[in-house]
Amino acid sequence: MDYDVIVIGGGPAGLSAALTGACYKLKTLVIEAAAAGGALVNNFPWKVVDNTLGFRNMTGKQVAAIYVEHIKNEDVDIKENEGVENITRDDVADEILVETNKNKYTAKAVIIAIGVLGKPRKANVQGENLNGVNYTLTYPNLYANRKILVAGGGDTAVEWAVGLDKAGAETTIIHRKDVFRANEKNQKDIAESKVKILWNTETKEILGENGKVKGAILINNQTNKTITENFDEIFLGLGNVPHSDFLEKIKVKTDERRMKILVDETMKTNIKGIFAAGDITQKWLKIPEAIGEGGFAGICAYKYIKNPYWA
Ligand SMILES: Cc1cc2nc3c(=O)[nH]c(=O)nc-3n(C[C@H](O)[C@H](O)[C@H](O)COP(=O)(O)OP(=O)(O)OC[C@H]3O[C@@H](n4cnc5c(N)ncnc54)[C@H](O)[C@@H]3O)c2cc1C
Repeated sequence: MDYDVIVIGGGPAGLSAALTGACYKLKTLVIEAAAAGGALVNNFPWKVVDNTLGFRNMTGKQVAAIYVEHIKNEDVDIKENEGVENITRDDVADEILVETNKNKYTAKAVIIAIGVLGKPRKANVQGENLNGVNYTLTYPNLYANRKILVAGGGDTAVEWAVGLDKAGAETTIIHRKDVFRANEKNQKDIAESKVKILWNTETKEILGENGKVKGAILINNQTNKTITENFDEIFLGLGNVPHSDFLEKIKVKTDERRMKILVDETMKTNIKGIFAAGDITQKWLKIPEAIGEGGFAGICAYKYIKNPYWA
């Protein structure tokens, strides 16, 4: 057996689970498909995290760097840029095989902490493959004085639009409904910004020139009226497609939308030796709760490893 516990996903939940593993002297591996730190560094590195005790006026990137620095000083192996593609439980050997795009590892227990961001949802419109169509916003300042279209109505799209506006970009946001799904703070921020809001509006086609975005045809889904406007860049914040391929293969129980893994009060899934923590579980979470849940999953995995009858 290569490891006592393998943690899949290096976000706040996964790193916290790994820290707990290290504290209990479990041989622990974290496998992270992108950069360790999770959504904080991969999805909102520029945003100030305002709700995590002990981290005041720090960006996602700074908070993630502190988490990763902490873990790297513990007895934990970390593999970055390595995505898990399959997990299988071997009942005879009583171990779990974890296959990535690069390697195979075995462990007694696995904690799935892959978050919910998955792959970005596509708009499925003509022109979507052009250069200048983006699914993530790293540094709004790169877009100062540019003309930007943001599509979407949740927290992510609204935060992008507000961030771009603050950075000095001429920003328009379109949303297919007439009210944002974003939280109160984000709704207030966008209402107070200079962002132009087009309700009941969707992207009909993305226009380009020499392989690069030039503009978009937008359609009002109530009146069917279209407008054509020039944009330098387009940000599609239409939500995410869950990791259903990966979860389906291991037949782990999820909710009906296949977005969330169902765990019991000890973070166990329906498969022996497999636990889950963080945003991927059925609870709605934020950074502090993901850390708490990850740590708890680490404790539960420890109890399971040391005393399988506990399972
Ligand atoms: C734009 C934005 C702003 C936010 N702002 C805040 C905020 O201000 N305060 C707050 O509390 N929360 C905020 N959140 C929510 C917060 O990011 C999450 O609650 C938190 O990151 C959840 O931690 P997690 O470890 O469960 O998942 P994540 O942080 O999503 O980490 C999961 C990790 O798993 C990796 N992964 C996925 N699939 C695989 C695979 N197959 N193999 C290996 N690795 C894999 C991913 O690459 C990712 O790094 C924000 C989220 C977004 C998107």
